[in-house]
Amino acid sequence: MRAAFTRGFLLAAAYALWAVLPARAADAWGAFDLLGAHVAPGERRELELTLGETLAGTPLVTRVSVLHGVRAGPSLCLIAGIHGDELNGIESVRRALDGHHPATLAGTLIGVPVVNLLAFHNGSRYLPDRRDLNRFFPGHAHASVPHRIARRLFDGVIAHCTRVIDFHTGSARRANLAQIRGNYARPEVLAFARLFAPLSALHKPRERGTLRNAATAIGIPTVTFEAGAPGSLQEDAIAAGTAAIERVMARLDMLAHAPEADHAEQAFFVRSRWLRAPRGGLLLSDVTTGTWVEAGSEIGRVVNPLTNATTVLRTPHSGRVLGRALNQLVLPGLATFNIGILGDAFHEARASTAGHGGARPVVAE
Ligand SMILES: [Zn+2]
Repeated sequence: MRAAFTRGFLLAAAYALWAVLPARAADAWGAFDLLGAHVAPGERRELELTLGETLAGTPLVTRVSVLHGVRAGPSLCLIAGIHGDELNGIESVRRALDGHHPATLAGTLIGVPVVNLLAFHNGSRYLPDRRDLNRFFPGHAHASVPHRIARRLFDGVIAHCTRVIDFHTGSARRANLAQIRGNYARPEVLAFARLFAPLSALHKPRERGTLRNAATAIGIPTVTFEAGAPGSLQEDAIAAGTAAIERVMARLDMLAHAPEADHAEQAFFVRSRWLRAPRGGLLLSDVTTGTWVEAGSEIGRVVNPLTNATTVLRTPHSGRVLGRALNQLVLPGLATFNIGILGDAFHEARASTAGHGGARPVVAE
């Protein structure tokens, strides 16, 4: 009697387990919860992230798109417009969100095309209080304007991502080669960077207040994607952004099709050095971003239009032009060419990130 009861109990328990397990497996890839919404597998939702208030007292709301796939996978977040005048990344993210359907995706694609609406409306890099939002992450709910916006984005969206790409351009009449930047001393960031191959990768140690730094610090591999100049829509830079997103999604197995084989080598730059104008005048150069240069070679001239005095700019470093000032009027000391220097990235990178706190960026990006 007791044996029969035990056998019956075990059978019932086994049946209960059998009945529950598939349900649990399905639950494991259920709705994606973000900003109070439950996004079902196969669904696309446009959500609202309230960043604060406008001067008129109306809510300052930006759009967050969520494409929740039908199969398990990572949560890839595409962030643009932290600087309101960096349009290339804004358009790359918009196209990426427009070009996918959740029914064909594994994982979740989350996009915020314009974070810094106040700066975007003003066509400016900065917030109306002249602060650079990308110096205030992860932010603070009760501190300054940029602290509050940073905190809303960080808690509302970033904390729910498993990987983040933050889109930028050069600043102040400077253009960047399409590239990614991250702290490659951290193995998870290095592994993420390799998914972008053959895109050039510049090592950036911790930089206080950047989204990249704050997200990486809580264990979310994050890189900055840089391409082109601010204030314009440059098709090559926009296309480089969308191509990078596609490549990363394919290599994360988020797409139905397999990633195409690409054996091109990825250059890792352990550091970069800015070459500053020795004199004021007109900067004239036809050296484009992406050019490989030898130490000692001429890369431009600064011409004084009043005296016709000409100063030749020579690079003290061998490497690749990762960014440059556009031809323009320059003051002595202006950062003109940013030369990426190859090296044993990860040995040296570790040495350069020893210590605490992190530095502020040398040139705005
Ligand atoms: Zn930027």
